[in-house]
Order: sequence, then C-alpha cells, then structure tokens
Amino acid sequence: MKTFQSLSEIKSEIRAGKLTVLSLTQHYLKNINDKNGRLNAFLSVYADEALEHAKVVDEKIQNGLSGKLAGMIVGIKDVFAYENHRLQCASKILEDFQSQFTATCIQRLIDEDAIIIGHQNCDEFAMGSSNENSSFGICRNPVDETRVPGGSSGGSAAAVAADMCLLSIGSDTGGSVRQPAAFCGVIGLKPTYSRISRFGLAAYASSFDTVGILAKSIEDAALVMEVMSGPDEFDSTVSQNSVPKFSNFKSDKKYKIAYLKETLEHDGLDSAIKSQIWRTIHNLKSIGHIVEEVSMSHLEYVLPTYYVLTAAEASSNLSRYDGVRYGQRAEATELAEMYIKTRSEGFGDEVKRRIMTGTFVLSASYYDAYYTKAQKVRRIIREETDKVLEAYDFIISPTTPTTAFKIGELKDDPIQMYFEDLYTVQANVAGIPAISLPVGVDNTGLPIGVQVMAKSFNEEELLDISNQIITFKDQNR
Ligand code: GLN
Repeated sequence: MKTFQSLSEIKSEIRAGKLTVLSLTQHYLKNINDKNGRLNAFLSVYADEALEHAKVVDEKIQNGLSGKLAGMIVGIKDVFAYENHRLQCASKILEDFQSQFTATCIQRLIDEDAIIIGHQNCDEFAMGSSNENSSFGICRNPVDETRVPGGSSGGSAAAVAADMCLLSIGSDTGGSVRQPAAFCGVIGLKPTYSRISRFGLAAYASSFDTVGILAKSIEDAALVMEVMSGPDEFDSTVSQNSVPKFSNFKSDKKYKIAYLKETLEHDGLDSAIKSQIWRTIHNLKSIGHIVEEVSMSHLEYVLPTYYVLTAAEASSNLSRYDGVRYGQRAEATELAEMYIKTRSEGFGDEVKRRIMTGTFVLSASYYDAYYTKAQKVRRIIREETDKVLEAYDFIISPTTPTTAFKIGELKDDPIQMYFEDLYTVQANVAGIPAISLPVGVDNTGLPIGVQVMAKSFNEEELLDISNQIITFKDQNR
C-alpha cells in the first residue's frame, strides 16, 4: 500500500472504493510489526481493538454517519490517559499502570472516529530531548537508525516518519513536539498555551504543558487541532475563546515576518541549518513577504528561565508518585522508607535531577534568588516577545541548533542536551503558538526544521504561512 500524506488522500481513496479503514489499519499494523522491533517507537499496540474499531468506522462511512476523522489512524504519546489502557509515561514507576479515564483531547478524536493504534515511546515524564530517558529502551530515528529521533515525543515523530500511523498526538512543554518533528522530517505543531484541554495529560510543568500534533500535512494538523480545541469542564485553565475553523487556513496573504539576530548569529548553530533558514527567508521575500531582522536582548536568559521554572513545577507535580496512589510500590517496613525506596528505584536519573533541582530552587533559602527571579524574567521575555509580535505577524527561526545527533552522543552531558532546546523554549515561556516545518535536509540527508512562532491565539495565520512555506518548497523541489 502507498504511503498516505493526508487524511483527505485517504478519504478520496475510500470514496473511490479503493480503500477501507480496515485495510488501512492493517497496513499501519503491518508497518508497526515490521519496524517496531528496531525503532521501538510504540510501547503498546492496540491491534485487535483497532481492527474492530476500523470495521465499525467502515460501516459508519457506508451509512453516511462517519465523523470528521474517519480514516485517521493515530498514535498517542505515553503521557495521555486512555481508559483501560496502560499509561506509563515511559517510567518504571508507572509500569503497567492502567488509566481509569480518557484524556479530553483523545476522547474528542475518538468521538470523530479516529482510531487509536497505540501508545508511543518518549522520554520519561516528557523530560528530555532525545528519547534516551525512556525506561523502556531508546527509540531510533527512522531516517538514520544510529541517531536519536529527538524528544521528548521521539516515538511519536518516528512513528509518523516511518508510516506507522498517519498522525501522532504529543506534548510540548519546551519543544517536545517541534524538536523531534525537525529531527525526523515531519510537521510539529504546538498551539497556544491553554488552547487544548490538559485533562488526562500527565503533568510535567503545568504552566508550560501544551498538547501538540505531529503530522505529515498542514491540513491534518489544522483539522485535528480544530477537533481537540476548546472549553472543557474538566480543565478550568483551558481558554474560553471560541475555536476558529482552523481547517480553512489557506490564503495568499502577505505578511511581515521577523527573524531574531541573536538566534541566527549563535555560535552553536549548525552551518547547514543556518543556510537553510536563510534560503527560507529568501524564498519568503521572493513571494512578497516582508522579512526583517530584529534584536531581542533577553534571549540568552530564555533557556535558564525555562529550566528553573519547569524543574520547580516538575518537583511539585511528581510528588504524587509516592507508591501509594499510582503504579509501583517498593518493599519496605515503614512509610518513609517506602516513599524513598519507591521513588529512588522508580524514577530515572534525569527525572531525579529535575526533582532535586526543582526542590532546590523552591527551598526557603533560594526561592527568591531562583524561582521568584525566574518568574520575573519570564514576564520580561513574554513582554519582549509580544512586542516583536505586535510589529510583526511571525518570528522565524531554526527549530534546533543541530540536526539529529548520534545515540549516546549527549547522554552524559545534560547541559549540552538542554542546549538542544535553545530555540523552542521561547514559545513555551511566552505561551504562544509555534510550528516546526520540514524544509530540507543537510548533505548527509538529515532533516532540517524551520520554526515559525505567532501571536497568542493566532494559529489560523500560523497555519496559512506554514502552508505557503511548504507549498513553495514542494513547487521548487
Ligand atoms: N527537552 C525539554 C525538556 O527536557 C522539553 C521537553 C518537553 O517539551 N516536554 O524539558
């Protein structure tokens, strides 16, 4: 069977009688069967149930009763609750834990007849940039299996790139959807903070966590965001703004776009990525957009601000894994010992590092010096970013400073690993929507992503410019 690039391609083959949802599901299951042993993109595969569900969707299509996502086969990151299915957050501490309810964003997909094919590998509790922090083994990049797929939604990006599902749902706290998308050559969309309900998404850093989408086409990303967005009685932080029809994104509007001097001049930026971004800027100008250089003085503080605040929030969020309420419990003779053993044995090194850092920055003696200060810097960064976005429609930058690195290359160097998030964290610190688009490859064939950030709640124009960038690339191949 051919590799489908979008749901509309699938739907037209179904309409023409050339395809059924059942045969499509079998196709993806075969790919999973053939490739997962090597890639380890999926931690659980729901083969029987996906096939049963496919038959029901086929019947609904025949009777003219199918939902908007009939024919869409979706993989979900192992941080989303799905009733009566395992939810492990790629952590030993949650090994074999079963969800008792379904995340709102996942339920909305199912209600529109999407089929959930399995839970995907990721960094433990979504902390990492390479998928190497999973307790259930590394995931490999299908473009080059000696390299990481990125993280933390590494399995989700690898699965889309390797045609093991059409689309994946990931989470993006500091780049976890966009960075793996860039490393694997797919589209990664992070909507505005609060656009999509977080109910049923295992919390990492609640004031940053965003549900995101990994897809092969802008139209699929738009449609799925439309289905998942909007108010939810189970998440009081979700935006009450009405949800635009994101799927009507196409226009030939000309925009004003900024690029930040400091990002393109950064010493750590790979030269092939830099040239590719310049090419994209040049292409945008050639089709009539205005692209100008802007300077942002506080950019160097974005990464430390992100890591202080997310560690603080993580240390609090992860206190719930105590051996009593969820998952695994260590053998012990008294309560305190049980907590300590459960957490020491259950969490991996990176998660422990974050919990310890977070506890430190929240401790009485250091609270003002780190946590309060980082909150103030966050506000300044948000204001500076918003100011640029008042004068310009978008900010364009690389998604990542490097292309996919080798497995093991940065594993023992956390600072270098954090540096991979240099360009993605700004959107989370500011809460704005951002997307990574696959715009080219370097001379060894490794994918390069360009990132576009937009004003809060302006995903519609973000999708429009993304479509223009991708269309230009496809026409000039
Ligand atoms: N790599 C970043 C981190 O480790 C981002 C993770 C994410 O977005 N979930 O925190």
